[in-house]
Amino acid sequence: MDFAITPGAQALLDEAATFEERLICEAREREAAGRIGTDVTQDLGSAGLIAPELSTHLGGRGQSKVAAGLVTEAIARGDLNVAYLQVVGSLMGQVIARNASAEVAEHYCRLITSGAETVAIGLSEPGAGSDAGNPQTTATRDGDDWIINGTKSMSLAMTSTATVIFARTDPQAKRGKGISAFLVDLDAPGATRTAITDMGQSAVARGSVDFSDVRVPADHLLGAEGAAFSQVMQGFDFSRALIGLQCTGSASRAIDDAWAYVKDREAFDQPLSTFQGVSFPLAEAETKMAAARLLCLNTLWLGDEGLPHTSQAAMCKWWAPLEAYHAIHQCLLLHGQNGYMRNRDVEKRLRDVLGMQIGDGTAQIMKLVIARESAGRAYAP
Ligand SMILES: Cc1cc2nc3c(=O)[nH]c(=O)nc-3n(C[C@H](O)[C@H](O)[C@H](O)COP(=O)(O)OP(=O)(O)OC[C@H]3O[C@@H](n4cnc5c(N)ncnc54)[C@H](O)[C@@H]3O)c2cc1C
Repeated sequence: MDFAITPGAQALLDEAATFEERLICEAREREAAGRIGTDVTQDLGSAGLIAPELSTHLGGRGQSKVAAGLVTEAIARGDLNVAYLQVVGSLMGQVIARNASAEVAEHYCRLITSGAETVAIGLSEPGAGSDAGNPQTTATRDGDDWIINGTKSMSLAMTSTATVIFARTDPQAKRGKGISAFLVDLDAPGATRTAITDMGQSAVARGSVDFSDVRVPADHLLGAEGAAFSQVMQGFDFSRALIGLQCTGSASRAIDDAWAYVKDREAFDQPLSTFQGVSFPLAEAETKMAAARLLCLNTLWLGDEGLPHTSQAAMCKWWAPLEAYHAIHQCLLLHGQNGYMRNRDVEKRLRDVLGMQIGDGTAQIMKLVIARESAGRAYAP
């Protein structure tokens, strides 16, 4: 393992760190607005902080996946929701760069990396989240176009310019097969967006999109027809490690804030931090975040080296969000009644990070992936 930071990556990390206080200050405004403002998105793009691992001809910085992970984590210290712009930027950037024609890839990747637009990922449906290999959304060929019908739910649905969706193209094929990925314009005739109100992450503007006879040009098919699960899904191994760092980033800032609070506040005539019952839970939270962070960085390093990392990515996705949630929960409790107040950063972080135990696949599904990788499909649940 080699996580050495190049000067180029360090410059990006320094740039990402400059966003931290601003993102914290503006987080409530984003929550109230139910969206991330275009100014933030464009500022991140201008600073090279969206999909920095993409090659320069696609608008990226040619950095490693490890560097993209560290950037994600640094942004998430300010606001987990804003860091999602980088997570989905890297996910969609990779998927499009690998699977679209050179012309389509350059067009969309440049929009993503510059922060001009976001592209959402539409895998889940009202009736198929975990069972993503069995979508009801269909795509049928009509001359040079594909016609899409179905409903998808996704983050950034209300603010993105386009989405990548997975749809059944072979009605006879069984679960996981005969499914194709398409890049679909969210403003196309027949696409209708409806906002979803969540308990947290309101800034990521989750919504459902109904596709009713939406026409997609043939060159917006990503990868080979029917091969979305074997080909396009590989991008998720990358984003699962990024999500882990999105969560550890938010938790690490919550832990720093909690240390400052318990050093400052006194009870029984001494700082709270001098009680083991206060300091040890924070020490434990720091330990777990350090371990989760290393797991994620190791996974990204395996990706950089072209080595298999599906199992490790699934470990990142189930464990880091869970432990980050526990860590932030502990931080909230150590603030006493102040932690429970609506205007405190820590309560928002708790609501936001909880969503990451569900988004992009639940813990059960990640453990299924790990079991299948270790025991083989025939011997796994
Ligand atoms: C904050 C947030 C952001 C999201 N963003 C996106 C996005 O951008 N794009 C997108 O496509 N989707 C997104 N989703 C949807 C998310 O991916 C799904 O909600 C998730 O995959 C679970 O699917 P489901 O809600 O249909 O639950 P279900 O599949 O109905 O599962 C319900 C419960 O049953 C369990 N379960 C299901 N099958 C099994 C099994 N075989 N073994 C054991 N347990 C099982 C699940 O783990 C879960 O606990 C987001 C969700 C959230 C909360």
